[in-house]
Amino acid sequence: MKEERVWRGHVVVVPYPSQGHINPLLQFAKRLASKGVQATVATTHYTVNTIYAPNVSVEAISDGYDEGGHGHASDTGAYLKAFKTFGSKTLSQLIRKFETSDSPVTCVVYDSFLPWALDVAIQHGVYGAAFFTNSATVSSLLYRIHHGLLTLPVKVEDMPLCIPGLHKLGYPDLPSFLKAPDSYPAYLAMTLSQYSNLHQAHWILGNTFDDLELQFPAAEGECEVWKGTMIGPMIPSAYLDGRIEDDRGYGASLWKPLDHKCKKWLELKPAGSVVYVSFGSMVVLTPKQMEEIAWGLRGSDYHFLWVVKESEHGKLPEGFIEATEEKGLVVTWCQQLELLAHEAIGCFVTHCGWNSTLEALCLGVPMVGVPKFADQFTNAKFIEDVWGVGVRAKEEDNNGTVRREELQFCLREVMDGERSQEMKKNAAKWKELAKNAVSEGGSSDNNINEFVAQVCTGNK
Ligand code: UDP
Repeated sequence: MKEERVWRGHVVVVPYPSQGHINPLLQFAKRLASKGVQATVATTHYTVNTIYAPNVSVEAISDGYDEGGHGHASDTGAYLKAFKTFGSKTLSQLIRKFETSDSPVTCVVYDSFLPWALDVAIQHGVYGAAFFTNSATVSSLLYRIHHGLLTLPVKVEDMPLCIPGLHKLGYPDLPSFLKAPDSYPAYLAMTLSQYSNLHQAHWILGNTFDDLELQFPAAEGECEVWKGTMIGPMIPSAYLDGRIEDDRGYGASLWKPLDHKCKKWLELKPAGSVVYVSFGSMVVLTPKQMEEIAWGLRGSDYHFLWVVKESEHGKLPEGFIEATEEKGLVVTWCQQLELLAHEAIGCFVTHCGWNSTLEALCLGVPMVGVPKFADQFTNAKFIEDVWGVGVRAKEEDNNGTVRREELQFCLREVMDGERSQEMKKNAAKWKELAKNAVSEGGSSDNNINEFVAQVCTGNK
């Protein structure tokens, strides 16, 4: 009798090659591997060597800029076009390579910024799953625009925005490209392209969890929101459980972390006494904003650890590094998870990128939100008003700069102001809820198990 094939499932995970996208998708690949699925991460030549993932294979595909990545493209539009052309071809070759092996590919999990990867999956007759790295709220807004339920630009008169099932949003809470779409044509086109072929995806996965963003279930038929399966937070469980075995974070770093310097410095600081400051991997601050943050931190009562990327160093005010002495440490990159998990950190001044927001929430660190671009404004709204784990710094009306006095006021509020205890209590509550969601029997874990079961049967 012919032996029936046992499907273990082989998932190829394709991230957009930036830090905020590689991190959650790599983590998902590792999570799948821990559940017995064979996982391969297919990423660009430029990023392939930045990944450390013992239980996952890593393979290179091409974006057409194999030497230098998107930094070498003339603009975002040109980069995306090249990635689609070269990425489709090389992803297809990769799937074909596995066809004759013991473990043919059964599913492509692709970053929703790369919808062409779904077309490749369909051509090869394997499952396609879109992985959204934004919040469900932002994905819902974009979904509504794509379906003509929301017209651009969204105006002050349209406020508040009440979407069934979601928290009410005011004008300052909207992603920047909804208010000024003409200022961000390529970015807007990319975010809307996520929906171009989404009806063909077998799953829509979201890096969030059930309790986090949905206010109440929308009535059947009234549901005009993005319908994803929540599988987050995609943060290494060792950090959620507080049993960190190594200091590699997600296991991917596009820049060299200066962790030893940070750790040594932090060891000498009392618990909850340090402000950690980072604007993520993409934000470019104006010189004026850098100056205000620098002197705001220097003039505050707190120790601070500030990540200033090498490309931003020239904007630091003259004499600032020397003037910080024992009080502050400026580094070019760090292992953020490691820092947020350190007991010396009492507050995170963040640009409110979705990963940074989730990381602080999951590790119980209260935040001061200084959003600058895209979805960061919406995330800041949740930090302050929905989860009660921080405050959003107010900008000067005319140029969007947060002044030093405002930063210092926010730091006092979060570190030891009247509402500080409440924020810390809420942060501890969300930490627990996040951990529950991904632990055995939690909502996200159950959703991942269902996904795995289907991928492993191989039946569409
Ligand atoms: N990050 C890091 N070290 C740093 C700053 C950031 O490891 O010094 C990581 C951070 O943990 C997060 C990612 O980079 O996972 C940034 O993603 P996010 O969505 O917060 O912002 P983006 O960089 O996409 O704007």
